[in-house]
Amino acid sequence: MIPLKEKVLLGIYDAFEKWVEEDIACQKGCATCCTQNVIITAVEGELIHRFIRERKKREWFAAKLQKKAKTRRPEFTTNGFAANCLEGNDVEPDTYGSGEPCPFLEQNCCSIYEVRPFSCRCFASTAVCRPSVPALIGETYLSASTAVMQVIEHLGQGEFLGNMLDVLLALCGVSENRKYYKLLPASMADQGLAHVVKALPLPGFLLLEEEMEKIAPLLESIFLTKVDGRTIEDILNNK
Ligand code: SF4
Ligand code: SF4
Repeated sequence: MIPLKEKVLLGIYDAFEKWVEEDIACQKGCATCCTQNVIITAVEGELIHRFIRERKKREWFAAKLQKKAKTRRPEFTTNGFAANCLEGNDVEPDTYGSGEPCPFLEQNCCSIYEVRPFSCRCFASTAVCRPSVPALIGETYLSASTAVMQVIEHLGQGEFLGNMLDVLLALCGVSENRKYYKLLPASMADQGLAHVVKALPLPGFLLLEEEMEKIAPLLESIFLTKVDGRTIEDILNNK
């Protein structure tokens, strides 16, 4: 049975996908954006772990995790950054991660596409990226992606947040994933644990009034989505 938080996460992914109106140029086989610079929450990581367990691909997965490049502990989560901004503190956005290719990339396609995290789902471009042409996307899309990331972080508050491979390694300590310990070099899972931080509750959105008007339909569709008979808004508010 899928846990409630993972069902909520899937509801959020679905609402975002339905909201996107941009003419996106991204296509299967285009993957220069697939680096190890992906930040996820534990709920997103648990969804990936479940996918691997159900397909009995533990050895394959353990080999992928061992391709992790050097990462550093993120200084701010998205909600941590927002809280600082809302309190008027002068903060710079974090620039963490690695430009190494993502280990889940196989023949230029994502091998965990069905359960890829939100950072991968929202990374998009209206023109095909080339070495001289980085991803291009509108301001409203970027603001909406950040707002959704804040909601996803709120869903996973108190749990791990960090680089995707660190979070996946850290989750190897959870009882249903313990079997990975035998497949990974000594202390590798603990290294993941050392690099993750805690997800924080939503302190408010970093949206100007006109941005909020454009993004309100997306947030409304997320909050009103029903999961197990309750709205996501009520679940997020513990009602
Ligand atoms: S963001 Fe750029 S590199 Fe990534 S899939 Fe889209 S067009 Fe390709
Ligand atoms: S998880 Fe999939 S979509 Fe995300 S960076 Fe890796 S290969 Fe690309």
